[in-house]
Amino acid sequence: MLKNSAAAYEAPSLEEVRAARARIRGAVIRPPIVASALGPDVRLVLDCLQPTGAFKVRGATNAIATLPAAAKARGVVCCSTGNHARALAHAGRAAGVPVTVCLSPLVPDNKVAAIEELGAEVIRIGQSQDDAQEVATRLVAERGLADLPPFDHPAIVAGQGTLGLDLMDAWPEVETVLIPLSGGGLAGGVALSAKAIKPSVRVIGISMDRGAAMAESLAAGRPLRVEEVPSLADSLGGGIGLDNRLTFRLCRDLLDDAILVTEAEIYRGLHALLTEERLFAEGGAAVGHAAILAGKIRVKGPTA
Ligand SMILES: *Cc1c(COP(=O)(O)O)cnc(C)c1O
Repeated sequence: MLKNSAAAYEAPSLEEVRAARARIRGAVIRPPIVASALGPDVRLVLDCLQPTGAFKVRGATNAIATLPAAAKARGVVCCSTGNHARALAHAGRAAGVPVTVCLSPLVPDNKVAAIEELGAEVIRIGQSQDDAQEVATRLVAERGLADLPPFDHPAIVAGQGTLGLDLMDAWPEVETVLIPLSGGGLAGGVALSAKAIKPSVRVIGISMDRGAAMAESLAAGRPLRVEEVPSLADSLGGGIGLDNRLTFRLCRDLLDDAILVTEAEIYRGLHALLTEERLFAEGGAAVGHAAILAGKIRVKGPTA
């Protein structure tokens, strides 16, 4: 298959995000939005309380629901840093759709075990997220599976964008939204829906400084391949695909900034989550705390 030959996807509209929310109702919670020890203007959006432990269940459930019946019967495949695979396995089981996931060795064992427990076929391969995607692409050709990638797909972006609707419903005064950034499905989807409702909202992506594929690509003006290295924020690892079809453009056009945090700052963020907020979350969820505590983001006005 030729790289860079895939046509760009059209970005979902606000109406499509609303349709996604109607589709996934019942499979997701409206996340609690709670006060933060970071200050009176900051609130935490606890989407980590979703089934399977991350927002990924939004996009995975929406993407499976939008497949034609024949594709559902053949099954779906993805590569993932862990949380998307888990969400897809969960959504696939609920919908009776067979799920195959391709995982790189950087995916933590506890996530692999949880995915296997949900009945998905797990294939562990290669060095990187990009290698895992290559195997997923081969299975599409060999077995006729539908590829539902972790971020670069309109139904995934629309699903993740439902978090923006939930946020704007619950806290219409919000002015700044800080979002952990990897492939940009969440940041792109939330920026799309939140800004459609309130154009003045600022959306800032935050990544670890080790292998921040989207941030480096945005700085370069085109999708780049970056070396993947272990990080406390394992769910933020992986490339964005040199043939990125949607999320690079979305992030380029809609993000107000992309900020990088170090491993030490993420550690401090996790520590603050645990001791100040009394929340036990994964490293990827701590980058907002990391950036604020490091002084890389100055809180000004209502901030999620
Ligand atoms: C997937 C994931 C992210 C990053 O989402 P993208 O859509 O890839 O940018 C952030 N945090 C957690 C916990 C995740 O699972």
